[in-house]
Amino acid sequence: MNLPNLTIAPQKQDSLLRKHPWVFRGAILKMDAEPQEGDWVNLITKSGQFLGLGHYQAAGSIAVRVISFEPNDLDQAFWDKKIQAAWSLRRDLGLTHKADSIFRLVHGEGDGCPGLIVDVYGQVAVVQCHTMGMYRQRHLIAQAIQKTCEDRLISIFDKSAESLPKMHGSELQNDWLWGERLVKTVASEDRCRYEVDWVTGQKTGFFVDQRENRALLAHYAKDKKVLNTFCYSGGFSIASLLAGAKEVYSVDSSQKALDLVDNNLKINGLLESNHFSIKADAVEYIKSIASDFDIIVLDPPAFAKHMGARHNAVQAYKRLNAHAFRQIKEGGLVFTFSCSQVVDKNLFRGAVTAAAIEVGRQVQVLHQLSQPADHPISAFHPEGEYLKGLVLRVL
Ligand code: SAH
Repeated sequence: MNLPNLTIAPQKQDSLLRKHPWVFRGAILKMDAEPQEGDWVNLITKSGQFLGLGHYQAAGSIAVRVISFEPNDLDQAFWDKKIQAAWSLRRDLGLTHKADSIFRLVHGEGDGCPGLIVDVYGQVAVVQCHTMGMYRQRHLIAQAIQKTCEDRLISIFDKSAESLPKMHGSELQNDWLWGERLVKTVASEDRCRYEVDWVTGQKTGFFVDQRENRALLAHYAKDKKVLNTFCYSGGFSIASLLAGAKEVYSVDSSQKALDLVDNNLKINGLLESNHFSIKADAVEYIKSIASDFDIIVLDPPAFAKHMGARHNAVQAYKRLNAHAFRQIKEGGLVFTFSCSQVVDKNLFRGAVTAAAIEVGRQVQVLHQLSQPADHPISAFHPEGEYLKGLVLRVL
């Protein structure tokens, strides 16, 4: 393959030699041809030595995401190997044994696939490409998934249109890449069952990354009164109810999310008598509650999607947590999360500490939470650690 050569400035090549997959625009010394959006490019040193193969992105600060640090043919076999490696990790994690399990099969940089997410819901894989480079490979990727997961899958759906909106929104359409044209399915996480609708749902249809944190909440939930804010399809609510919670209140600003919760209650055979769905702004609702909740879950959407929004996001985390600390019962637990990649765990913890100081209550850190192992973090790409959580006991 004749790829455009991009020469990396000598003082900028260290991170590539350490296998960090991002090349910032300023690191490119020269290009021997003008690559198009999503083209494969060959990265070389000033003296012509090979550094990596990656996908080019014309806009934004990251110009290239490296997909291979070795010379490669970039053919079907290349993708087969990537997907097989990802599958074998999930198999070793014990996530593939059950035919109806929910897990993440490919997690971007953590699986050597910057720009690619694949979530599996029972017999269905949902692919989401975050770069045009990955999007252009989607058919090879789908074939690789199909081969690797042979007996398990009956459908592969591509949900990239909305993750590539600014660049190519009008041209792209979500579509099936293979198999039956299913729009939703019921799949399981631990003892909980969820209906996942990847076509109209948020992201790929479900927040797979909270599996272990839901299990931890279940551990504490028996006989407790639980408030689950930013509940989406009710993962934390279902886990608490199945664990024997006394009452669960699920809050979301979206009616569609609350409809998903109600449906998930039914699927799990749970009664509606000790569950309450509330359509409200989470902060306003927390301000209005009585101080008799034993557990409050705070799992907001990413407050900061880029560095420019980071300061305001930290302030917003502080305010949100302060409201929960003010309202919760003495000895109650707050499960608080941030999925903003640009707010790292120290910054998040700082915001939470600042909230505790403001409220003036004693707060103990019981657990420091992160993303599960099917959302691996490349040691060379610490930015991949995006989900942070704390379990706090408030006295
Ligand atoms: N905890 C969920 C995932 C949360 S996603 C799970 O385990 O599946 C974030 C959710 O917050 C979305 O459902 C979105 O509709 C909701 N949301 C966004 N802003 C909100 C607000 N101000 N008040 C309440 N809910 C909000």
